[in-house]
Amino acid sequence: MSLTLRVCGSAGVHPGPDQACSSYLVAAGETRLLMDVGNGSLTRLQQTVDVADLDAVLLSHTHPDHCVDLYGLYFARRFHPEGPTPLTVYAPAGSEAQLAGLLPESAQEGFRGLLRFVPVAAGDTVTVGALTVRLHEALHPVETVAARIEADGRTLAYSADTAPCDDVVTAARDADLFLCEATWREADGPHPKGVHCSGRQAGELAERASVGRLLLTHITPTVDSREIVAEATEATSAPVAAAADGLEVRV
Ligand SMILES: [Zn+2]
Ligand SMILES: [Zn+2]
Repeated sequence: MSLTLRVCGSAGVHPGPDQACSSYLVAAGETRLLMDVGNGSLTRLQQTVDVADLDAVLLSHTHPDHCVDLYGLYFARRFHPEGPTPLTVYAPAGSEAQLAGLLPESAQEGFRGLLRFVPVAAGDTVTVGALTVRLHEALHPVETVAARIEADGRTLAYSADTAPCDDVVTAARDADLFLCEATWREADGPHPKGVHCSGRQAGELAERASVGRLLLTHITPTVDSREIVAEATEATSAPVAAAADGLEVRV
């Protein structure tokens, strides 16, 4: 059994011409966990997996670039040729009401019936099949959870959307692979505080956490990812790469 990460959407803030927004399929053995479901990512997801094979979804937070394709996923599960199957959605408290609230009233019951929302918060640990998922507190304008995922002796950390903060360093401590957001180019700053990381800041987080490898994601599509990688590389001794849609890596 190996722990793998497949990128179904690597864009931050909004999709690009060839990039969907944040979504990551984490697999170990027969277990399939989808972390975030950003705009356009459901197309990428279905290129390699049947939506019926997902065991659970983890929403880091409810900004649109992390959750709007949950509606498509709901319909794909509900009208699946082999019949509807419920799906557990771990998400910060209030997510169910917020997401269901965007649907017409007549459609809300079906949505809430098939998607089984489980409120989670930093400090919680959930088990999804072969995966142990520990949640940490990201620093972002809305409640956002970062994740530390372990399986088969390997560790994947996901920053979610965050500005630099101590709990994300804890989440990533000694991780084999750190999937970290790097929305902005440092040189384009100053940027608003408490929202996102620049490439340099992502590199600094990786260095503080002594991670094995750093994979940058959530880069704004209008920014050259090579420049973000260069910024991060200056700040950490860990190998750095940028995520791209369709990329699959063994953790
Ligand atoms: Zn985002
Ligand atoms: Zn966000």
